[in-house]
Amino acid sequence: MPPRTRSAWLKTLGQLAMVLLAAAAIGMALGHPWQVVTCAALGVVAWHYWRLRRVLLRLTARQRLTPPLGDGVWNELDRLLYRGQSEMRSRKRRLIEMLRAYRAAAAALPDAIVVVDRLSQRVLWFNAACKPLLGMQYPEDMGAPLVQRLQPLPLAHWLAAGRHAETLEVPSPVNSSVTLSLRLIPYSENLWLLVARDVSRMLHLEQMRRDFVANVSHELRTPLTVVHGYLDMLDPEEHPDWAPMLAEMQRQSQRMTQLVEDLLTLSRLESQGSLPEEENIAMGAMLTTLAREANALSQGKHEVTVDDSSEGLDLWGGHKELHSAFSNLVSNAIRYTPAGGSVHIRFRREGSGAVLEVSDTGYGIPPNHLPRLTERFYRVSTSRSRESGGTGLGLAICKHVLNLHQARLQVTSEVGRGSTFSCHFGAERVRPREAIEVLP
Ligand code: ADP
Repeated sequence: MPPRTRSAWLKTLGQLAMVLLAAAAIGMALGHPWQVVTCAALGVVAWHYWRLRRVLLRLTARQRLTPPLGDGVWNELDRLLYRGQSEMRSRKRRLIEMLRAYRAAAAALPDAIVVVDRLSQRVLWFNAACKPLLGMQYPEDMGAPLVQRLQPLPLAHWLAAGRHAETLEVPSPVNSSVTLSLRLIPYSENLWLLVARDVSRMLHLEQMRRDFVANVSHELRTPLTVVHGYLDMLDPEEHPDWAPMLAEMQRQSQRMTQLVEDLLTLSRLESQGSLPEEENIAMGAMLTTLAREANALSQGKHEVTVDDSSEGLDLWGGHKELHSAFSNLVSNAIRYTPAGGSVHIRFRREGSGAVLEVSDTGYGIPPNHLPRLTERFYRVSTSRSRESGGTGLGLAICKHVLNLHQARLQVTSEVGRGSTFSCHFGAERVRPREAIEVLP
């Protein structure tokens, strides 16, 4: 017990003893000591009941307590209650201020934020940005069913799928020239936060970047063809002194042409959200073409083998795109494998899908480079890539093509032993092989 409370307690006991002693003295003087002491004891009990009732009344009335004056247990109890009430009030004030600050911050955010009840999918709260971005009105839309309220947006399927990590890009229901990126964040057991962000500017900049790269590449194509043409016309035998320079100029102009072609392919792949044309891809013929290309590039310096263990499967997708992706892998395998090494191209079943694998016994790739390999112009060794005539875009192209086919690229590699690049296709991209396959 704290000292202050203990002294109040002792004081009250002392007062009780004094009252009883005084009553006994008066009682003895009157000749009825027990009766007077009993009356005094009853008086003390009644007074304590009265004080108890007063405390109960003050508590039930939820009144604001006043700081007590005086001492004794009842005043100490009043003091403790007053202190508890004051602490609770200041905590409540602080919490309300914090809540107001949070609400003000959420209301001031440029993104539209809607708090949604998970079970009923009804709107519980939304901020000011919901009006210009989602067309929501206060107070009419409070408690409205979210899917119905944002009607033209395809939310029902998205909410039902419950894939919260995925964003949904849709035109704003208020202004179709504004693109919104919607995200659903579950933030408690029963509540969702729907965040809608205006990404039109970002998309516009992205489009500008793509157009810029595509236009520059396109513009470079003609002058490069002209330079290339004139270089071809210069006969090194007529100008023996220039022969090394001419050879270098030809090599560099060829590299630039390849770079421009790869940039154009990449920007075409980026701008198309889906494949322009899908068809059955005869994998027997595809493997033969890849092997022929590998042999042409290797010029007999590598052993090239092909294995079709798919048990009669073909792929379904873009022929040109897939050929470009696979031949990039084959060309890398030849270019990053020293003479005398081998390259193995294999097409096999994997569950209900299929895998195309290109393995080599080349230089291999250190593990820290693997996660970044498909970035544009990312090279493990810049000098080796330049020497081998690489543009730094081959794997970026391959990844984009595979994305368009909902497929994924897997790379395993060991430095000094070689690498395996595998393209994994799902069941929807696999077809039984057609009976008659036209070989090239
Ligand atoms: P590049 O035109 O430079 O070959 P890519 O995008 O095709 O560009 O490949 C990126 C980098 O990945 C290459 O520079 C090379 O360092 C590495 N790489 C790709 N394939 C292989 C491979 N089969 N063996 C070793 N390294 C490879």
